[in-house]
Amino acid sequence: MNCSCGFNFALHRANDGELESYAVVSDKKYQKFLKREMKVLKAPQDDPEKRFRLIFKSSRLIGSLQRCPDCSRYCLHLPGQEETIILARDS
Ligand SMILES: [Zn+2]
Repeated sequence: MNCSCGFNFALHRANDGELESYAVVSDKKYQKFLKREMKVLKAPQDDPEKRFRLIFKSSRLIGSLQRCPDCSRYCLHLPGQEETIILARDS
């Protein structure tokens, strides 16, 4: 994911860079997300494959909001969508 200023979030993270970042879950799917997260928490610790599958399933409901450290715009990535939405402050 790139910001409209050209900043590359993935490359920054690959170089151990820190970002202001938030998990985003839609209100409509929030209950479903919580149920999936509870299944992750209840999964047996000695079955990492099952835990991984449950985490993957839950993560499909999560998007992200990240602040670009170069230009301060926010980049919103909704779950299940390829497009990145760029949000700029109205000041
Ligand atoms: Zn930027």
